[in-house]
Amino acid sequence: MLNNQLTSYHQYLAGGGEMGGLTRAFDWSATSIGTPDTWPQSLLTTVSIILNSRFPMFLWWGPELIQFYNDAYRPSMGNTGKHPNALGQRGEDCWPEIWPVIKPLIDSVLEIGKPTWSEDQLIPIYRNGALEDVYWTFSYSRVIDESGEAGGVLVVCTETTAKVKDFNELQHAKKELEFAIESAELGTWDLNPVTNKFIGNDRLKLWFGLAKEDEIDLKDALASVIEEDRERVIEAILNTIATGSDGNYSVVYTIKNLKDDTKRIVAAKGKAIFDNKGNAIRFSGILEDVTEDYQLQQRKDEFISVASHELKTPITSISASMQILQKLSKTEHLPDKVNLFINKANNNLSKLIHLLDDLLNVTKIQQGQLALNKTRFNLTELIKDCCEHIHVDGGQEFIINTTEPVMIDADYRRVDQVMVNLLNNAIKYSPQSKKVEITIFHDDEKATVSVRDFGIGINPDKLPHLFDRYYRVDALGHQFSGLGLGLYISSEIINRHGGKIGADSTLGNGSNFWFTLPLE
Ligand code: ADP
Repeated sequence: MLNNQLTSYHQYLAGGGEMGGLTRAFDWSATSIGTPDTWPQSLLTTVSIILNSRFPMFLWWGPELIQFYNDAYRPSMGNTGKHPNALGQRGEDCWPEIWPVIKPLIDSVLEIGKPTWSEDQLIPIYRNGALEDVYWTFSYSRVIDESGEAGGVLVVCTETTAKVKDFNELQHAKKELEFAIESAELGTWDLNPVTNKFIGNDRLKLWFGLAKEDEIDLKDALASVIEEDRERVIEAILNTIATGSDGNYSVVYTIKNLKDDTKRIVAAKGKAIFDNKGNAIRFSGILEDVTEDYQLQQRKDEFISVASHELKTPITSISASMQILQKLSKTEHLPDKVNLFINKANNNLSKLIHLLDDLLNVTKIQQGQLALNKTRFNLTELIKDCCEHIHVDGGQEFIINTTEPVMIDADYRRVDQVMVNLLNNAIKYSPQSKKVEITIFHDDEKATVSVRDFGIGINPDKLPHLFDRYYRVDALGHQFSGLGLGLYISSEIINRHGGKIGADSTLGNGSNFWFTLPLE
């Protein structure tokens, strides 16, 4: 009988890693619960469950609340704190710093039997040589012994300090973000592309004149986008969330407040996130009120429009006089010096006409008057002609990769203008290099032309702005003349043809500008 009992209590205390070993080796005779051979079955079973569980567990047993815990619980004790003294210790001796908090809980569980549930509760404990703030989610439950009375309290718990800290950090980051959004006076939105409902901040709702509901229907917000811009905004949204899109969204449009009719020009920027099947699952971003910048821009455009029209008449007249002067210089014998100055004046007049042309083109684009006059022609021939006629000061050589004809329907003069601009830039921004490569190829739908130079290159950060009007990259130490209009005009011309234009570049390694044109 004694043997059987010995065997059985040993079985209950078997296993359990470090805590199993410590529990077996502990001198229980010095405690109020006595040696394991005298323990009731309920205690043996509970201790066995604790030692063999990978969930952190802790037990208070008997009137003195003598303690047991397992390996999973052990890390919460830290390295220089209560472990291993807590084993077999009286609860009151082990936890003086929190005893006033937990003792009433233990008593209530023992007396009433209703288990407790505490989530992410701060219970500071002494570990690693100091009192630490530790968070726990735990449940206390009563263990009934053989007499049918409460024998002890089992604690199943998990330390959530890391989770709570992460959550607090997240809250902190959220607050900082909110502060940044608030200081930058931005509107924010987060659209669910499946339901077409979005969450917006108060500023966005105020701008659009929307009710302060939590979720807003996209169509309600679109109602305050002015009619001229609405289709464009819808298209930009659809393109962004379409499968295969790069997920980037950037569009400027005007809204008219639904309540008080206030107009605002807003720049929206966002990003869509896709699942692994390529379906957009989230689409969020910010809105900036750029009304002031656009007013300013408008005034600048108005000034340029007036100034360029005023300049047009005298320059046309000078140009006519120059032509007559050039004809005369061929028939009359004039001193060499006079011829030299006529040529100089003529070259500078060409530059002036070119600049004026760019300014007049901007006005045309602004007023929607950049009309296309389409004919059918061979794009390869146009590019060859262009390369032959372009004036190259620095001795650069154009290498054209292809002689194959590529027939397109497009405005010859406008495509020529794009080519001249890209080639001129390739020369201008490559003072140290002698080579510009032009590649033309096509598939069934479109022709693609690329102009590759080996010049100063462009910081990739600046690439998204290159085609904005008046945009010029600071060319660190270099002085290049220009108005920052050529690429803007080129992009308008290409877009109006239904093509695309872009650039790839790295600083110091040259640039590759490309455009596509539909074949039909
Ligand atoms: P700009 O009259 O200033 O040349 P563009 O609109 O043609 O105006 O070009 C805009 C800006 O893009 C330029 O100011 C320049 O900073 C940059 N850029 C254009 N082409 C190149 C190129 N091939 N290499 C480096 N930078 C370029």
